Amino acid sequence: MQPVLSLNGITKFYGKIQALNNVSFDVPEGSVFGILGPNGSGKTTMLGIVMDVLKPTSGSFEFFGKPATSILRKDIGTLLETPNFYHYLSGERNLAIAAEIKGKGRENIPAALEKVNLTERRTSKFSTYSLGMKQRLAIASALLGNPTVLVFDEPTNGLDPVGIAEIRELIKRLAGEGKTIIMASHMLDEVEKVCTHVAIMKRGKLLASGPVDEILVNEDIVEISANNLSQLELVASGLPGYTTIKKQSNCIHALY
Ligand code: ADP
Repeated sequence: MQPVLSLNGITKFYGKIQALNNVSFDVPEGSVFGILGPNGSGKTTMLGIVMDVLKPTSGSFEFFGKPATSILRKDIGTLLETPNFYHYLSGERNLAIAAEIKGKGRENIPAALEKVNLTERRTSKFSTYSLGMKQRLAIASALLGNPTVLVFDEPTNGLDPVGIAEIRELIKRLAGEGKTIIMASHMLDEVEKVCTHVAIMKRGKLLASGPVDEILVNEDIVEISANNLSQLELVASGLPGYTTIKKQSNCIHALY
């Protein structure tokens, strides 16, 4: 099957700081593709390049087998950080404003609300929404142009446990409906629970990429992690009790 996205040798410098170092991977159609790595590993820079808000210093990027022009990338829905919704307006009204800002038609608003299970609460003020509902509205905003590809940066960050569960469920549901989803995460357990594929990043370099069930039990990855405790610790940060687990095991898969 043709990959949705192919990154070929992407390198990115911010002045003298190298954020990405010759990164290549393919994102298969219909996958939930996790970009996993500690803070500072280059995840947001990678998503910025995919979304056309950043230019790579070198390397190329293909979208459905063609050079990824800005026009083609209009078919990518994005959620970088929670948008600035108006607290005193309803969810529905906020989406209408978002549609206008993004230059998308309003005709997709009912479907977007339905997909994120907010139809019944569409006329409630945004200020009355739970954290999970606010994030679901943000995802509805990313769905406005009915894109085939969705890009989410740390979509469960800052949410309570109920909100986290809601968003993870929603991501899986959207994938089940045929969307390809690329999401950055610093949480190993999130990638294991939600993603079908993963790219593991460390200081701008790609350590490994492929199906989650192959990569997260792969001997080589285990060894890379075992040889570098700081990486193990950083990948594990966000997991409760990782310090004790670290002492018990040097295997990335045994972090649980
Ligand atoms: P992550 O999303 O994994 O936390 P980032 O892509 O934000 O990683 O950052 C990767 C590296 O690039 C870090 O060293 C970070 O400090 C640096 N960086 C990110 N954005 C900028 C910027 N606008 N200017 C300079 N350095 C940056």
